[in-house]
Amino acid sequence: MPTPSTRLNGQFALVTGASSGIGAAVAKALAAHGAAVAVNYSHDADGGNAVVKEITDAGGTAIAIGADVSKEDQVQAMFQQAIEHFGTLHIVVSNAGIQVDSPFVEMKLEQWQKVIDVNLTGQFLVLREAAREFIKRGVQPDVSRAAGKIICMSSVHEVIPWAGHVNYATTKGGIMQLMKSTAQELAPHKIRVNSIGPGAIKTPINHDAWATPEAEQKLLTLIPYNRVGDPADIGSLAAWLVSDEADYITGQTIFMDGGMTLYPGFATGG
Ligand code: NAD
Repeated sequence: MPTPSTRLNGQFALVTGASSGIGAAVAKALAAHGAAVAVNYSHDADGGNAVVKEITDAGGTAIAIGADVSKEDQVQAMFQQAIEHFGTLHIVVSNAGIQVDSPFVEMKLEQWQKVIDVNLTGQFLVLREAAREFIKRGVQPDVSRAAGKIICMSSVHEVIPWAGHVNYATTKGGIMQLMKSTAQELAPHKIRVNSIGPGAIKTPINHDAWATPEAEQKLLTLIPYNRVGDPADIGSLAAWLVSDEADYITGQTIFMDGGMTLYPGFATGG
């Protein structure tokens, strides 16, 4: 568990896709800094419940809520359940995402559509429900300077093209404009919207890219800082970005990637 603090005391958070990987680490980090957390899972109830147990065993507060973020009725029911349980929400981390890889010319419409549905439409549905709750409730000055804080989990593939993963990279590019446009529209309501753009982080989504020493060595050629990231790296950033210490940040993607976006191929002259 991350080092505890009181930075997010009295705040209620929802993290989507939190039964594994980055979402689980973000949920644990928010809880360690004092937030009560709704841990969303899609099919993996055991994973969601295990994250809740880890948080509560460490003295935190958490509940698990099942919902598929690509389904409007399920997203609305998830927010209703979290708000009924906690009273309101102050922090929403829209993290759920998938890869369905294929060479472009062989990509089936279903492979394209599935990734758009979860990674992009899912973000829209989650952000819209978050904004509705934050606007309805407004700022609670004794809790936070903002009425609400949203983090979209993007990727370095928001800016780095990715052959063989055109559907995935397209959704991450789309998240950039979703995040920036909603940040612009919601700022007058004192709602902050930002993205985190992880580089290579050791999670199930990219298991094959780091699971063997040979694969990890190949991956490291893309990372100037010469280590593959841990989910906890992203958890620390998320817990800071939603805190009042970051109150003047909105509409930004913060890349956390060990330098992957520094175009390491040019380090030796290009
Ligand atoms: P992961 O596979 O462990 O996590 C993805 C989570 O999303 C899982 O918990 C999964 O159950 C959930 N999910 C999938 N479909 C869902 C749906 N329809 N509704 C609700 N939840 C659903 O992988 P991860 O690396 O932790 O991925 C989390 C996010 O981080 C994703 O958006 C991913 O694109 C992004 N990301 C990861 C990396 C990396 O290197 N691991 C890099 C950049 C971005």
